[in-house]
Amino acid sequence: MPDSVNAAVPVAPKTPKIPFIHLKFKNNYNLIMQEVTRKWLKSRSKLSGEYLKILASTADEHREITAFLTEKNEEFHAIDPIEVRPQKVVIKGLPISTDIDAIRADLTERGFNVLKVAQLTKAKSKFKLPIFMVELKKLPSSPDIFQLETCCFLTVKIDSFNRRPGATQCYNCNLFHHSSSNCHIKTRCLKCGEPHKTGDCPIKSKIENPTCINCQQKGHLANSHRCPKFPKPKPKKGEASQNRNNKIVNNSNSNIFSTSATVQKGVSFANALKNDKQMAPPPTPKENRNRNNPKTIESENFGFMDAILELKKFFTDYPSLLELGRQLRNAQGNERVDVFYRHLISLN
Ligand SMILES: [Zn+2]
Ligand SMILES: [Zn+2]
Ligand SMILES: [Zn+2]
Repeated sequence: MPDSVNAAVPVAPKTPKIPFIHLKFKNNYNLIMQEVTRKWLKSRSKLSGEYLKILASTADEHREITAFLTEKNEEFHAIDPIEVRPQKVVIKGLPISTDIDAIRADLTERGFNVLKVAQLTKAKSKFKLPIFMVELKKLPSSPDIFQLETCCFLTVKIDSFNRRPGATQCYNCNLFHHSSSNCHIKTRCLKCGEPHKTGDCPIKSKIENPTCINCQQKGHLANSHRCPKFPKPKPKKGEASQNRNNKIVNNSNSNIFSTSATVQKGVSFANALKNDKQMAPPPTPKENRNRNNPKTIESENFGFMDAILELKKFFTDYPSLLELGRQLRNAQGNERVDVFYRHLISLN
């Protein structure tokens, strides 16, 4: 066979995988599924635990089905197909002081559709890093960002942006593997399971022997790694080769746009905090108070600065609160209250 014939054989374009739509199972599921199947003949569905996993045949179909389920008020979660998802990359090689607006302007001028530019920071210290995360809307006419050689007059390196590994827990329903921005499942409070945000829970104090809303067992909350429903860490795969690149990124940016809690390798925030406490047991409130100005605290003149001082001490005693601060900065609107409560709960 001549070479030219071989060369002419068209290479099938790699079709990107369409993610499943997770529709919450209910006994009368057939009503809604009948409509879905009738409208989207090529879609497929299967039962998987407490969900019906619906597989759309195209990204468009995926969008249509999720719009339909939303309109029907069905409970589901679905992440966007990869081609609709914004492209996230990191730019390395720029000085730490680079203005993110300059990066945005430069990329826009080169024909990129820039959704967001953010400078990455170190997890604990919050020190700025010379790494910039860029979120792009990919259009058919968009140039390939990985071909970008210079930015702001300097040679740069483009890397893909990696999330921190670990299970994602939704702030809205407290189930796993999706974030609240994609969640159409009823809001469930982490503390009491009622349909309100954890931050809006009327229970403001610590629950002594809580019931987990995910497994119904007593003694832990649904964000605890002790929960049997808490996702187990996946076996490590190609970790050695990935590590070097990911480390900084992982440590620094994982929660920047998060609408969920990311819990590392089966370690819940609560547990992470526990470890902190083991390393440096916090003094009792009484000791704490006596350490500095012992009188002013109880006096009527307790002012704003006194409060700040107390909070500062509190932060020293609970170093993990820095993480809370970081998450608060990255959360939006009411989600901040959720983030706050999650942390308070895990402090116990
Ligand atoms: Zn959810
Ligand atoms: Zn509640
Ligand atoms: Zn549980």
